[in-house]
Formats: sequence, structure tokens, C-alpha cells
Amino acid sequence: MTYKLSQRSQKIKPSPTLTLSAKAQSLKAAGQPVLNLAVGEPDFDTPEHIKAAAIKAIQDGFTKYTAVEGIMPLREAIVQKFKTENNISYHANQVMVSCGGKQVFYNLAQAYLNEGDEVLIPAPYWVSYPDMVLLANATPKVIETSVETAHKLTPALLEAALSPKTKMLVLNSPSNPSGMAYTLAELKALAEVLKKYPDVLVVSDDIYEHSLWSMDFANIVMADPSFQDRTLVLNGVSKTYAMTGWRIGYAAGPTELIQAMGMIQSQSTSNPCSIAQKAALAALTGPQDFLATSRNIFKKRHDTLIQQLNKIPGIHCTPSDGTFYTFPSVEGVLRNHPQLADDLALSNYLLQKALLAVVPGSAFGSPGHLRLSFATSDAVLEESVTRLAEALATIQA
Ligand code: PLP
Repeated sequence: MTYKLSQRSQKIKPSPTLTLSAKAQSLKAAGQPVLNLAVGEPDFDTPEHIKAAAIKAIQDGFTKYTAVEGIMPLREAIVQKFKTENNISYHANQVMVSCGGKQVFYNLAQAYLNEGDEVLIPAPYWVSYPDMVLLANATPKVIETSVETAHKLTPALLEAALSPKTKMLVLNSPSNPSGMAYTLAELKALAEVLKKYPDVLVVSDDIYEHSLWSMDFANIVMADPSFQDRTLVLNGVSKTYAMTGWRIGYAAGPTELIQAMGMIQSQSTSNPCSIAQKAALAALTGPQDFLATSRNIFKKRHDTLIQQLNKIPGIHCTPSDGTFYTFPSVEGVLRNHPQLADDLALSNYLLQKALLAVVPGSAFGSPGHLRLSFATSDAVLEESVTRLAEALATIQA
């Protein structure tokens, strides 16, 4: 039979980062010594006390449906997290738990967007935002930023992009892929512009909150508390506690919005995994020393990697504020080697020639760049830089 797939499914594409990672893994499985810098998850194991909580949940028979929005102790722990770490007060009915930060954004898009609504997404952006906006029949409006503004949205760029059609603005700090974070002052300046558009909702994707080393973390609600009732904060345990496979993310925001998002979740996936919820509860309420340890490791790798990359002709790396990504400009490389049409061609070349997997910047809406993840060992990073330099030095005319 011929399958007439929905128009909706044809609007979107597979996540380019997951696709590239899969390609690298299959080359590896075929025995090729591929180095994978395309990964979007910490390389550490989930801490033992978190795993123990999950094992206990299974042994205790905590294996049934839970409340759709997540178990109350976990929602209360999330409320407490916002109070102590961000100085923001929420009621338990203003927070909900989903299957990863990804489902938080999906629920939000489904619960809040209509056809014709525009969502402002500064580039470079996390690959899934535009597609999830499209799945909700709304329109992603990408705002280009530049190396000069450290890939950050400025008040002038924001002002120019806002229109009566704007329904939502996405802010992700520290950012995947750029690694850049907004300062408190920068967020205050953006908030001033947004005050002229009181009906625009802000999504603050704080998922890399704890992988930040160059400044104290801030989001727009912390910068301007009047934004609490017009901001949906997205966060989760995936990146913070090396728990990407457990699929637990959470949202905090206005009650009405959270209720609508809960309704979408109730008719799609129901509650996130009961066992993973117990694990997330242990993560949020248990010892927090893992956070500083992993942040320090990422920072150390970052410092070495940036220094080495900047020695390669044509590559320009601005130091990241946090995350485990660097997003160098490779425009110099492309200028020097016109036989490589663009960043996509360059990343393909690196995979073929050097068995090095990196993600082209165009996947994130910023061509002329590559995203390199340093969520991998020092040895792999060192070998990657060697292969990258050699592959670029031996490009055939
Ligand atoms: N937001 C950003 C910026 C991300 O990079 C990711 C994952 O890559 C997510 C949200 C979602 O993470 P998860 O669904 O694993 O919680």
C-alpha cells in the first residue's frame, strides 16, 4: 500500500544531532575507529545514590501509573530547587514533570500555539525548537545573531523581530550549541524591550544551568521578577545529573499554562516513568557535590580544547561560558578551501577522512560553524584535535 503520511510529519526532519551521532556509532560498530564529538550528553555515569533510589523503587513495587504531572514529593522537590537555587517561589501546581525537557517544550507548543503564531528563536538554537513549533502548526521566526555579540540576542535584534504576531520567545542560557550565557544585566535589558509586548510568553530553557563557570546563573525571572507570570521555565535532570536516558524534565510557570500542558501530556504519554521519577527525586534532594565536580571537569577540558583549536588555521573559537560544547567559526577554513562548499561539506569530509564526527552549524541555524562536544575523555579530545588539524592540512585542491 502507499502510505499517505500526514502533512505534519512531512514538515519536520529527524534531529540532525541524533542522526549524526547514530552515523558515527554505526561506523564504530563496523569496526572503524570513529571519534564522536557529536554527542549531546555528559560522559559520566549517573551517581550511585540516584541509581540506588531507582533500584529501591523497583524493589518496593513503585511500578504503576503515577499522577500525570509527576509524584507530589518530586514536584515539591522542584519547588524547593527553584526557591533555593533561583530564589523563585512556585506552588506545586505551578510545576510539572515530563519525559525530558524535550517533552516540556512539546507540551508547551501544543498547549499554547496556534496557526499563524510566531515564535522567536535566536540562532544558533537547539535543533528541536523549530520542529516542535512546526508540529504545533505555528511559525518559527529565527533571529540571526553574530560572533560579535557572542551569538546572543541583543535588545536591538529583539526589538526588530517582535511583531503583533509574536506569541513566544525562546531563551536558552547557557546555550546549546554556542555555550554562551546571558548575564543578569543582559537579561534585564531584554526584559525592558519585552515589556512593550506584554502578551509575549518567554520560554527560559535552563537545562544547562549547572554547567556554567564564567558567571552566576540567571534567567529572565531572576533578572526581572515581574516576568514570573509570563515565563515558562524548562529544566531537567538529564544534563545536570548525567541522566539523559532516564527521561525526566520539568516545567515551572503560570498555573493555567501548566494545567493545559498537563492535559496534553495526559492524552499523549501520561506520567513519566515512575522509577525515573524516584531517581530524579534522589538527584534533587541528595548530595550535590557531583555538580561542581562535573562542571570543573568540563571547564578544564574546555580550556585545553579552545586553546588547541584556536591554533588551527581558519578556526576561531570564542570561549564558552558553560555547557560541554564549543561552537567555533570555520569560515576561515571554508574561505581557504573553496572545494568545501559549506559547513555540511566540511563535517562530512571530517567524518570520511578523519573519522571525526562533529555537527555542522547549519543544523543549529548558524552556517559557517561546527559544534564540538567535549563530553568525552581528554585522550579522545587530544586525538580529535590532531585528526582535525591533519585533515584540514591535507585537503586536496
Ligand atoms: N534543551 C536543550 C537546549 C537541550 O540541548 C536539550 C537536549 O539536548 C534539551 C532541552 C532536552 O533534554 P532532555 O529531553 O534530555 O531533558
